[in-house]
Amino acid sequence: MTKRAIVWFKTDLRIHDNETLMRAIELNDEIIPVYCFEETQLLKTEFGTAKQGNFRVNFLLESLVDLDKNLRALGSGLIVTIGKPEVQLIEIAKKYGVQSVFSKKEVGIEEKQTQMLVEQELWKMKCTLDVFSTSTLYHAQDLPFALKDIPDVFTNYRKRIERDSKIRPVIESPLVIKSPTFELLKLPTLSILGFNEVQSDERRAFHFKGGETEGKKRLHEYLFETKSIATYKETRNGMLGENYSSKFSAWLSLGCLSPREIYDQIKRYESTYTANESTYWLIFELLWRDYFRFMMKKHGHYYFLQQGIAPIRAELNKHNSTEFEKWKNADTGNDFIDANMMELNLTGFMSNRGRQNVASFLCHELKLDWRYGAAYFEEKLIDYDVCSNWGNWAYLAGVGNDPRAGRVFNSEKQAKEYDPKNKYRELWLNKI
Ligand code: FAD
Repeated sequence: MTKRAIVWFKTDLRIHDNETLMRAIELNDEIIPVYCFEETQLLKTEFGTAKQGNFRVNFLLESLVDLDKNLRALGSGLIVTIGKPEVQLIEIAKKYGVQSVFSKKEVGIEEKQTQMLVEQELWKMKCTLDVFSTSTLYHAQDLPFALKDIPDVFTNYRKRIERDSKIRPVIESPLVIKSPTFELLKLPTLSILGFNEVQSDERRAFHFKGGETEGKKRLHEYLFETKSIATYKETRNGMLGENYSSKFSAWLSLGCLSPREIYDQIKRYESTYTANESTYWLIFELLWRDYFRFMMKKHGHYYFLQQGIAPIRAELNKHNSTEFEKWKNADTGNDFIDANMMELNLTGFMSNRGRQNVASFLCHELKLDWRYGAAYFEEKLIDYDVCSNWGNWAYLAGVGNDPRAGRVFNSEKQAKEYDPKNKYRELWLNKI
């Protein structure tokens, strides 16, 4: 009997450095790659925001086209479905006589819930679900502490991990994949999924295009073509243009790029050219990304509660829909905040400096419930990632992992420092 497994792709839309895919290939005669658009992702949140907006869905569709193309080049392809994974995957498993499903291990609450439902349904037909950690730079199994002992202060975490842990090498990509014959990729359009077409604003800092191929292209461009990495530490707080920061986030969030591949290429850059504070700093930022993921694993649903992981110091602000609407619609009257919100609304992206400021403004100036802001980012960001988003918001609200109990950014001072000539505000507040 042919041994077959489904590879259930989620936020790991890549061929390179993908343990889930490699293990499925090694342990089976044939694999069936599947992506499922989850119905629940098309709903509204309890904060009145959408679970996702058109910038991100468009990026996702582009990423799926690329994944299908790359899988086909190796002899396979991608099946795309819409519905509940616990129904869709079972139907495919029955149709192809599958014995197991391989997928990425989840840490988010809703994601874990879906994973559990799928596992329960698979058990009913004597199929197994095998999950792998594929998101982080440091593998979860290589942490030098038990989950409950991971320090709640980033610096303590970083120092231990840098001293006592090692980054695993990138996993080789498969050269060939055996699969049953599939029909051509059937991808829903934005309008079928209920989204408007994406209008591209010429003022955007960067044109994001989904997929592993584009992600790798950007990696090469940032490191080896423009060598922007050489000055990353000095430019990373910028707000204008393509290269003040890497823009890797959108590909990382869908797993089109693996953080280990980025690390590997940075090491290659360092050995070819030079290692400096900037090349280290990009790795340092990837440690932050890891950290929020491990923290979500440790504290779970607390990141979605208003008191976060710090109930003692929580300031429980009330929601105010008028003020929230003004914040969302770039209408607060504070030009630095409004310019950043314009950029977010019109492009799906905002710099880290901008994110810190608009989040601090919502929490500490408007004194609103921070979770509404986090939910709005969830809808709008092209690079939305459950752990980085809710972790950063909780941090800024003072109920997360900030030992200083929440950062208050003085937006006027910040504007003077980071937009001294008004260029950013002029770009986004005056029509070109
Ligand atoms: P670079 O400066 O080039 O950094 C390289 C990579 O390091 C990023 O791609 C990202 O993966 C990681 N990184 C950098 N800063 C952080 C950070 N503070 N936390 C976690 N990872 C980091 N990032 C997301 O990827 N998704 C989100 O949903 C998200 N929401 C955020 C919400 C708030 C309120 C704040 C303050 C930050 C948020 N960030 C989020 C982190 C950060 O702003 C973005 O990762 C970064 O701006 C993306 O641009 P870049 O890839 O050019 O970053």
